[in-house]
Amino acid sequence: MNAPARAPLMALDDALAALLACAPALTDTESVPTFDATARVLAQDLVSALQVPPADNSSMDGYAVRCADVTEKGAVLPVSQRIPAGHAGEPLKPGTCARIFTGAPMPAGADAVVMQEDTREVGGDIHAVHIDAVPQPGQWVRRAGEDVTRGAVVLARGQRLDEAALGLAASLGLAQLRVVRRPRVALFSTGDELVMPGEVPPEAMKPGAIYNSNRFFLRALLQRFGCEVSDLGIVPDKREATLAALKTAADHHDLILTSGGVSVGEEDHIKPSVQQLGGLDLWQIAMKPGKPFAYGHVRRDAGVEGQCHFIGLPGNPVSSYVTFLLLVRPFLLQLQGVGDAAALRLPPATPLRADFAVPRADKRREFLRVRRNTQGGLDLFPNQSSGVLTSTVWADGLVDNPAGATIAPGDTVRFIALSDLLA
Ligand code: AMP
Ligand code: MG
Repeated sequence: MNAPARAPLMALDDALAALLACAPALTDTESVPTFDATARVLAQDLVSALQVPPADNSSMDGYAVRCADVTEKGAVLPVSQRIPAGHAGEPLKPGTCARIFTGAPMPAGADAVVMQEDTREVGGDIHAVHIDAVPQPGQWVRRAGEDVTRGAVVLARGQRLDEAALGLAASLGLAQLRVVRRPRVALFSTGDELVMPGEVPPEAMKPGAIYNSNRFFLRALLQRFGCEVSDLGIVPDKREATLAALKTAADHHDLILTSGGVSVGEEDHIKPSVQQLGGLDLWQIAMKPGKPFAYGHVRRDAGVEGQCHFIGLPGNPVSSYVTFLLLVRPFLLQLQGVGDAAALRLPPATPLRADFAVPRADKRREFLRVRRNTQGGLDLFPNQSSGVLTSTVWADGLVDNPAGATIAPGDTVRFIALSDLLA
């Protein structure tokens, strides 16, 4: 008798689309201090109540002049006032100049700044300067509103706040920002072999024991993407323990994220437990590393509204890391209402030259750990095993290699920068 034909694995793009279709944005919002809003997502447009900069000001240390007074090199103008940053000057008297410093408002009547380097002090009693360059109107002047005009939507709802966006929000005078509430994520690792660093010193580790590495990077990644993490530690490879952990977590979280225990062995209790407590909507993806990826939901207690998302990542550290970046990251961004559609797709790949060979094609789409070299090509980390976490630290990107494709040195391949996946 022939073995039953196995259903083909789901393609990564289809899996991502299915996942995103299950992740409507959270509707709760909160107001947080701008200082603490890094990595949060704006829940409303930020409309500027002022113009930035508020007034025309000098972009140089020098002298504010009327261009009409300096039609040729060597003009001598008395210095009629001094305007440091933070102080407003008087209207500029015709035939004079104003000593001015970077950021100081232009005095009324002045239409250009001559930088200090193009001037010389005139000796003697009167305070005057030689102007050694002929200024053009507007020279070294930053115009009022050249950064932000009043009434402009400076940052739109759905904008994720990186450091630059925080600075821009602060430049509008906003001390508090309304953002989408953080997704609440329960994280647990499965595996009887796992030991926490600090619990047992390396020399006393029992045969078969390994340190729990996934817990560290998954927690850090969740925080990077704006989540509030409940770290539930290590859950043993037992059905009862798995069911109990899932049940407890479901009521108070938006997402349960697990690593390990989601393959096909008898010690893999995640899949049947999620099926028992809710349902599995997605399982196994045609990608390498990362095949044993699962998405589903866990019902909450009667009386608690809705259901909890469930994502089961593979146990192998590289698989866990890569599937987080390719699938969990966009899921979390969409949960938080990120409006940038590009952030919800795989980042665009750059064509680059492979300075390595992959002589054997894989049936699955593969994400190879690579690094850009100084010749403008890519080097391959020699060990592409999904257990070798060193490869992810060494690499600065992934080559997205289609199923069935070999690579010869000199071929153009698709490079995705890890920095794009971490942004
Ligand atoms: P599993 O998916 O549970 O079959 O695990 C696959 C492989 O990943 C096994 O070699 C596990 O020991 C390893 N593994 C699972 N969870 C972790 C973890 N949290 N940290 C490090 N390695 C892990
Ligand atoms: Mg396991």
